[in-house]
Amino acid sequence: MSNPVPDFQNTEIAFKHLKDSDLYRAWSLFRAINIKPFVTMGPALVTGALKLRLPVKGLIKSTVFRQFCGGEDLESCEDTVRHLMLGGVYSILDYGVEGEKSEAGFDAAMAEVLRTVSAMKSNSGAPFCVFKLTALARFELLEAVSTSGTSTVHATLTAEWGRVVARVAKICDTAITAGKLVMIDAEETWIQPAIDHLAITMAREHNKKTAKVYTTIQMYRVNGLRDVNALLDQARTEGWIPAIKLVRGAYMEIERERAREMSYPSPIHPDKTATDIAYNEALKKILGPGSTAFLCAGTHNADSSLLAVDLAEAYELPPASPRMWFAQLLGMSDNLTFNLAHSGYLAAKYVPYGPIGAVLPYLFRRARENTSIAGQSSRELLLIERELRRRSGR
Ligand SMILES: Cc1cc2nc3c(=O)[nH]c(=O)nc-3n(C[C@H](O)[C@H](O)[C@H](O)COP(=O)(O)OP(=O)(O)OC[C@H]3O[C@@H](n4cnc5c(N)ncnc54)[C@H](O)[C@@H]3O)c2cc1C
Repeated sequence: MSNPVPDFQNTEIAFKHLKDSDLYRAWSLFRAINIKPFVTMGPALVTGALKLRLPVKGLIKSTVFRQFCGGEDLESCEDTVRHLMLGGVYSILDYGVEGEKSEAGFDAAMAEVLRTVSAMKSNSGAPFCVFKLTALARFELLEAVSTSGTSTVHATLTAEWGRVVARVAKICDTAITAGKLVMIDAEETWIQPAIDHLAITMAREHNKKTAKVYTTIQMYRVNGLRDVNALLDQARTEGWIPAIKLVRGAYMEIERERAREMSYPSPIHPDKTATDIAYNEALKKILGPGSTAFLCAGTHNADSSLLAVDLAEAYELPPASPRMWFAQLLGMSDNLTFNLAHSGYLAAKYVPYGPIGAVLPYLFRRARENTSIAGQSSRELLLIERELRRRSGR
């Protein structure tokens, strides 16, 4: 019997979990962030207003925060986890603090991730634990280690690097003991070698019989496909199971700007088509013949998601195979997540949470991503409009 094919045009299933009032709120928000100047100037205006202690937090909370975040703390996310599970969708709780600066801040971020693991220990709706290295380590340290390599970390940095390794190991050990899977996010290319080193070290240690630790590979990088192949080869040679969260990549503008400023070739594919081709080729490698690799397709792209569904069919993976997860961000692409779940695939939402001030960089990225391109409405807006029309019988 063949695997079901999800219908991503089915907005009834996609938005079943939203009341009419929620859908109108989302519609107003996506209309607003479709306006480019609004989004371009937004970050500076919001940051300035917060510095001047103007009362903008309430506005942020009832708009972008409500759309894209699970809550300000773990407790307020529990409802979100329950709510998503009603549609068969799992949650990946993501303590959304980025760019911490102090050792105390890094320890506090680790403690929060551990608190998430402990709180969700017996909650099957939240099977993953996820973190960003920049929440646990100084950016400049990650950059220095990425440049020098881990075997030649400068003497003055050895102790600091040791503390980072210990934080990552502690999170992985605790999460895996609690029965959770671990995902380590990818960030800027010039700190990524240090992140990859830590992620692969953890995967080598924990992915013995099945996959527990997922590394992330960004396919907008010219070297993305090479890195996928290298990881699969390394795991095969060393006898462990590779697990990859495959994404296109979220830092394109910063990457290109830095490459321009510092006069080196951009590490990012020259155009979207090249990124799309690389992403889909990587899917074929990961799910293809002879592969034992585990995948989490972290994408809002319908074609790539359908390709993964086709590959599962071709290589005889059942929809609920633990080798294949799909994940989208909370508040985006419900047409993929809920229709995949409805068809029996393992589908999850990244659910970022944290104090409003701390998750602002994340919220700005989401707003930018949903701005109109070449005068067209964003993907989200069109879907919501279609569902509103369907509900009103038009
Ligand atoms: C569950 C999940 C986890 C994620 N984790 C991470 C992470 O750890 N690290 C990270 O960096 N990102 C992460 N992302 C974000 C992701 O990298 C993308 O930014 C986002 O999902 C948009 O890409 P897409 O595959 O959904 O689809 P699409 O909307 O089809 O593609 C948009 C993406 O294509 C690429 N692109 C766009 N224009 C061009 C161009 N002109 N040239 C080259 N490439 C172009 C960019 O990467 C852009 O984000 C995650 C996303 C999800 C859903």
